[in-house]
Amino acid sequence: MAGALTPYKTRFAPSPTGALHLGHAYSALIGSRRAMNQGGQFLLRIEDIDKPRCKSAFEGAIFTDLRWLGLSWPSPVLRQSLRSLAYQTALNTLQMRGLTYQCACTRADIRAALSAPQEGSSPIGPEVLIYPGTCRNTGLSPDMAPTLRLNMTAALAGRKGVEFTETGENAGMHFVSAQELLDRIGDVVLARKDIGVSYHLAVVTDDGFQQISEVVRGLDLQPITALQVLLQEHLGLQTPLYHHHRLIRDAAGKRLAKRDDARALALLRDQGLSAHDVLDRLGLDHRV
Ligand code: GLU
Repeated sequence: MAGALTPYKTRFAPSPTGALHLGHAYSALIGSRRAMNQGGQFLLRIEDIDKPRCKSAFEGAIFTDLRWLGLSWPSPVLRQSLRSLAYQTALNTLQMRGLTYQCACTRADIRAALSAPQEGSSPIGPEVLIYPGTCRNTGLSPDMAPTLRLNMTAALAGRKGVEFTETGENAGMHFVSAQELLDRIGDVVLARKDIGVSYHLAVVTDDGFQQISEVVRGLDLQPITALQVLLQEHLGLQTPLYHHHRLIRDAAGKRLAKRDDARALALLRDQGLSAHDVLDRLGLDHRV
């Protein structure tokens, strides 16, 4: 049920894998302002499940940068690295519902299967490989096949598609058909023995646990929202509203990434910019 959650609660959920830049500042500020306007709460969540890439120095810098911008949030913050039990419970639920299978394919296997013309194979998406389903009906055990995938066909059984309410860019009710989910997202990885659970599973579990009523984040995540809504429905979690905001781009029009250190907030601060200067650059008024 979309939008039934009250009071208003949103979260900013950075991963400590690099320095925060202007795009992160925009996201955090929009979230905090929406919470304030609605007399709600703004939470900070540290999404540190990707252990090899997460660094405590980056985490410390997140706190420093956000405080510098004038933001505040309740303590303690939720840390995904401490939530493995909750994620395992969610995975068990999906497994018990027959919505997952073990997969033994490597990336190279998947590429090879996708390049060989075969009936029913899915196209390669703009950024990700859509899994061709090689292991879907093989009944492999976790010992032989370390990756756990969502069986998208099973997850969509009896549904025409998935819908969610968008309050940001392209506001309104978004309907994503079952066919689109199969073609553009497919049997995504939910967990892998060596790397743990996927972003999608963790984020949905935590948004549900924290009773987030509106997810505020960049427009780049709008295309995968239907997948997260589908997972929520199977996990018995409420679907929040989604507020996807415009992306902050560099002078050449390219979306900012963590590796673009030139836009890092710490660097701007070191150059003598104030938090108000950052607000000006983002086109936001000076209230915090
Ligand atoms: N940790 C994710 C990121 O940094 C958060 C995405 C989300 O808000 O759902 O992109």
